Amino acid sequence: MIQIHQFPCLSDNYGYLLHDPDSGETVCIDTPDAAEYLKQAGAKGWAITQIWNTHWHPDHAGGNLAIKEATGCTIVAPAAEAGRIAGIDREVAHGDTVSLGELTAHVIDVGGHTLGHIAYHLPEAKIAMVGDSVFALGCGRMFEGTPQQFWASLERIRALPPETMLYCAHEYTAANAKFAVHADPDNAALADYAEEISDKRSRGEWTVPMPLSRELATNPFLRADAADMKARWGGSAPEDTFAALRAAKDAF
Ligand code: ZN
Ligand code: FE
Repeated sequence: MIQIHQFPCLSDNYGYLLHDPDSGETVCIDTPDAAEYLKQAGAKGWAITQIWNTHWHPDHAGGNLAIKEATGCTIVAPAAEAGRIAGIDREVAHGDTVSLGELTAHVIDVGGHTLGHIAYHLPEAKIAMVGDSVFALGCGRMFEGTPQQFWASLERIRALPPETMLYCAHEYTAANAKFAVHADPDNAALADYAEEISDKRSRGEWTVPMPLSRELATNPFLRADAADMKARWGGSAPEDTFAALRAAKDAF
């Protein structure tokens, strides 16, 4: 079965290496820090064979060329952002699949943080690498997309099997939890989750990955179409409620 190696890099990113022991393939999920990725792969004794980018931001694709030069790996990246990502061998879009040995990853359009942001869902491993689209108790800033686009992306994430473990790219959870409790103060499941997060962070533990099932019940952005969120935050359509929440978080 697939091995997942997670490690902190830059100031608050998580780096991920996925390794398939049967084929010997190893994929970098994004490339925030080439030196750190090469060091971590070396320590594991894994030869990097691929990079899968989620979006063009430098803390996700900035290490592409250095890793490719060092390893000869191939690079998969979102077609819609091909002009802004270095070293691409294969451009992919929603509905495409990529392979890690025998395992298949489905490309999902999660645009909104950036226009062409994609996630990689590996149903056999019950994991999804979601970049900066959804975070524990939060979502990415809407730098390029529209509320309608971002909401549609979150609906695609919500539609994954609830047992899916979400691997996001940043440890933003403590700050997200503060806003989430402000946004959804009567949610008992959220209150429990926020307390657990605070305990974990005080011990220096990671809060990522997290099961989708828990986010469905507690993440205010994934709950933008719930009646109580609509009542509190307004909006006639879910994307309007989402937009109100996103704007409030930006100013929080
Ligand atoms: Zn980003
Ligand atoms: Fe990022």
